[in-house]
Amino acid sequence: MPRILLVEDEEKLARFVELELKHEGYEVEKAFDGRSGLEMAETGGFDLLLLDIMLPGINGLEVLRRIRKASSLPVIMLTARDAVMDKVTGLDMGADDYITKPFSIEELLARIRVALRKSTVKAEESTILSCADLSLDTARHRVTRDDHEIELTGREFALLQYFLENKTHVLSREQILTQVWGYQYMGETNVVDVYVRYLRNKIDDSYETKLLHTIRGVGYVLRDDA
Ligand code: CA
Repeated sequence: MPRILLVEDEEKLARFVELELKHEGYEVEKAFDGRSGLEMAETGGFDLLLLDIMLPGINGLEVLRRIRKASSLPVIMLTARDAVMDKVTGLDMGADDYITKPFSIEELLARIRVALRKSTVKAEESTILSCADLSLDTARHRVTRDDHEIELTGREFALLQYFLENKTHVLSREQILTQVWGYQYMGETNVVDVYVRYLRNKIDDSYETKLLHTIRGVGYVLRDDA
């Protein structure tokens, strides 16, 4: 059954929606604030995100913005009545749909079905990038090596996708930072080294053939040297 992540700080509403969704057979996980919602979303494994906009900590629009950097997870925003700007901004930022509070559970269920159906169609059009026995499915957000599933965070996934799209090309830390983190080089390139280490730990360390290579003084390259 599809797994749904519900990020909603009104705990009573969250529990009610959770019960109804479970009753329909969905698996449901809850977060009550933006930061933990974002962390859970980034661990992957969800088929749909129900995201409230007014949240403590990071608000829903910011959660959406960060998720969209690395993932095409279907997102339905839960918005307050009359919050027209939030709806427009949410859709501009890549939300798939929104529903205005208070909503009926039937309407929510209908919108969930539509969003899940659309994402199944998208998934069928997904691109598989690969290098040796490592493969990445862009739409399903899935990475495997030697047929074993590897769990990556959103950022690690984006980094690996960038390496795969530029397979055999040596990439500088500055290039990687600009493309994957989306900002100009500001001397913070050690974050790239940190994430390359995380990624290596997951995709290379337990395998004999290493795919991610350091090119001293230049940067990194993903290639199969075997
Ligand atoms: Ca709220």
